[in-house]
Amino acid sequence: MKLTSKLPLVGTTIFTVMSKMALEHNAINLSQGFPNFPVDSLLIDILKLKVSENIHQYNPMAGNPLLLQNISELIQKSYNRNVSPEKEILVTAGATQAIFTTIQALVHSGDEVVILDPSYDCYESPILLADGIPKRIPLDSNFLPDWQLINDTVNAKTRLIITNNPHNPSGKIWTESDVVELETLVQKYPNLLVLSDEVYEYITFENKHISAHERTILHERSIVVSSFGKTFHITGWKIGYLVAPEEIMLEIKKVHQFLVFCVNSVAQSVLADYLPKVDTSKLGEFYQEKRDFFRNGLVNSRFKLLDCEGTYFQLASYAIISNESDIDFTKRLITDFGVAAIPLSVFNADNADHRLIRFCFAKDNLTLTNAMEKLCKI
Ligand code: PMP
Ligand code: GLN
Repeated sequence: MKLTSKLPLVGTTIFTVMSKMALEHNAINLSQGFPNFPVDSLLIDILKLKVSENIHQYNPMAGNPLLLQNISELIQKSYNRNVSPEKEILVTAGATQAIFTTIQALVHSGDEVVILDPSYDCYESPILLADGIPKRIPLDSNFLPDWQLINDTVNAKTRLIITNNPHNPSGKIWTESDVVELETLVQKYPNLLVLSDEVYEYITFENKHISAHERTILHERSIVVSSFGKTFHITGWKIGYLVAPEEIMLEIKKVHQFLVFCVNSVAQSVLADYLPKVDTSKLGEFYQEKRDFFRNGLVNSRFKLLDCEGTYFQLASYAIISNESDIDFTKRLITDFGVAAIPLSVFNADNADHRLIRFCFAKDNLTLTNAMEKLCKI
């Protein structure tokens, strides 16, 4: 049989590759982004209670009604935006499914989609599967949008621009003027929509990010994506949600119903109960302590740390340590020094290599201490 791949250039994700290699070499895994500390005991208590209730059958397609209502209240509290639980929110199997579903619903053959590099790896493949054309353009040297380049790239055929703020992998947050530029752009192109990946929305430090939820011009033209995995340290539960204007949502739901129909009922029911009892505004402080602990521990290392304004990722330059490619360097970091990180070049369409690697600091302090000790010896 001759099987023609629909994604000939796609391999296994770097996160899987690095986590596997870390395990094989018994290295401390600061590569794939996931927390290694326990989740909130209240969440576990609710899970234990709920699991014996009658919550094990299909939920309504768009989500458990109480969860939809409570998500709407969270958005009201966080961003002062009024969102209809019935018409504008969809519970998804993580942000990954939200992004995939949105792209399948909105991108037609030949439509262009702008991606800003370095970019998270789940954006491009769904565009190719929809027969769209990914237009990957670099962020500037500070990992902020290069508006000249964006304005030169966007045209009447551009269906979507995918934004990610706070940004994985750089930890950067868009400035007010970046947000204004985006507003100007959508006003200029009536067919352009924004897929706003805000999965790290509650993991910000000195400054909060500006959400598309907070800007009327933007939220009328945006699909905003959130992840409970990030916000509640439950990446394995694979649950999140998207918010979109009703007209767009109707198209997204058409795809969603045939992709998953509905999301895991137990997770939805537990989160519906948990949401009003938890304060998401405390998450930034929690991770800020971890960021500072990790950064302080590396002050005497030979790594140069870049600014980190949000997310649980810290970028580091190893340029004064080695001339190796970032892929070779991260491999040797595992085999020779026992710490796993992510090379940044894999987030760039042209694999541009700036001698930068990404560490995940969503780890307990003992793990971070052990890693810092090893990194300081390099
Ligand atoms: N977008 C970004 C920027 C991410 O870092 C991640 C990480 N997992 C996702 C989307 C996917 O989130 P989820 O695990 O909820 O699918
Ligand atoms: N978002 C995580 C990261 O950037 C990876 C999630 C995954 O492995 N799919 O590390």
